[in-house]
Amino acid sequence: MEIFSIQRNSEFGRFAIACQDLNAGEFLSEDFPFVIGPKASTTCCCLECYCPVDATSSGSRCDDCSWPLCHDCRKLSERPSHKRECEIFKAAKCKFYNLSVTNAICMQLDCITPLRVLLEKEFNSMRWHEEIEPMEHHRNERFGSPTWNADEQNVVGYLCGPCKMKQRGIDGELIQQVIGILEVNTFEGKTVKSHTMRCLYPKLSILSHSCTPNTTHSIHPSYGNKFTLRATIPIKQGSQLYTTYAYTLSGTAERQQHLKQGKFFQCHCERCLDPTELGTNFSSLKCQKCHLGYLLASDPLNSETIWKCNKCECEVTTVNIQSLLKTLQDEINSTRSIESLENLLEKYKTILHSNHFLMISIKNLLIDLYGHVRGYLLSELPESLLRRKIQLCTEVLQILDVFESGKSRARGLMLIELHQPITLHASCQYKLGKISNKEYLIELEKSQNILNESLEILSCEDESICQQRKLGKLSLNQLEKLIKDVKENCN
Ligand SMILES: [Zn+2]
Ligand SMILES: [Zn+2]
Ligand SMILES: [Zn+2]
Ligand SMILES: [Zn+2]
Repeated sequence: MEIFSIQRNSEFGRFAIACQDLNAGEFLSEDFPFVIGPKASTTCCCLECYCPVDATSSGSRCDDCSWPLCHDCRKLSERPSHKRECEIFKAAKCKFYNLSVTNAICMQLDCITPLRVLLEKEFNSMRWHEEIEPMEHHRNERFGSPTWNADEQNVVGYLCGPCKMKQRGIDGELIQQVIGILEVNTFEGKTVKSHTMRCLYPKLSILSHSCTPNTTHSIHPSYGNKFTLRATIPIKQGSQLYTTYAYTLSGTAERQQHLKQGKFFQCHCERCLDPTELGTNFSSLKCQKCHLGYLLASDPLNSETIWKCNKCECEVTTVNIQSLLKTLQDEINSTRSIESLENLLEKYKTILHSNHFLMISIKNLLIDLYGHVRGYLLSELPESLLRRKIQLCTEVLQILDVFESGKSRARGLMLIELHQPITLHASCQYKLGKISNKEYLIELEKSQNILNESLEILSCEDESICQQRKLGKLSLNQLEKLIKDVKENCN
């Protein structure tokens, strides 16, 4: 029996419905990409492995076609990704134009991924007709926009003209359709060496968007960039499957803007319609008039909405809110050290709700620093800072439990971060005689449960790009040994 069926309506286009009750973590689907390639508006990169390549005349180039290829890939006898376009460029004598700055945006590379789709279409026309051609490309919304016009010159003009694709029966309308399909449907992937690229997965693109997705996908660079899709929470038969096309830890205004500009739709999910973002207050600001209430968007889907206090009569315009948030964001971006980030958290307490997305972003930055930078390695942290790291992880997890609940990668990674300070904090207290053998054991088993849950979630990830999974396994061995020792001491 099929796990999900594909349906169609005017609101969502194509979408997927569960044909049976699904458990959290249940496998849903897998697929190989139709095409992978460099992202749009990328800096200069190798057309085989996507590592950065110098864009100036001193950069490494393909000996056959002169387009960017790193030293390692130049030596390869097989270049599966670059092969077909290389032949096109060579035959048409289309040279790569070197730039004057090493890492400037390289517009010329914008034609690569569309070209790869067009060539794969010739090679695999059945898959094109069945899976790619029906994909959403929002022609009407894109037509005549600045991006459309730039693509018309930069990609359509280049492929039809110098690259002689017109002779292969390829016209501007088809190229714009391909550009639209890529813009709306591609997912970002990482190579084994962690370089970013974009991948087109027809099956994954059928899923609709939600700002609280109920599935998660992993991309496996060690297995031909296969993706696997799983349920993160139990899903009832007949319910829709959702992925997310936005960063779940951004606020409603930011997500709406991203979806409108990049994906051409307005999200009407429960989270977007709720000014409190499902009770989290993820976009709420403290009222500066009564100092008791919070300012909430009266119409979250309207980009010019008025923000009203939930305790007094105070009203603020979106323009004022946005300019305040921009000032704070700039301040966060220019702050690096643990001490100054902690100071910002303290300062913003009077302006933002403690769950505001900017507060959560600072907490995430701190979680990445405590335990990972010189002077603050886990083994060096005093009891108080171990407690601080536990607190920060717990606060972010409470948010993830709402927006990416269940067996999501984000929760898996946060649980890994949380288990270590719990173990070390307990060991600290035990050594100081503050807790008994038995209490020590309870804490260690708590840490072990957290780690086990995390490893279960991350078991779906490709170990070559998920360092945390490798480290978690090592940590589990040590923890099991420690628990065994403490148990022996108890007896
Ligand atoms: Zn390379
Ligand atoms: Zn080449
Ligand atoms: Zn939404
Ligand atoms: Zn107020």
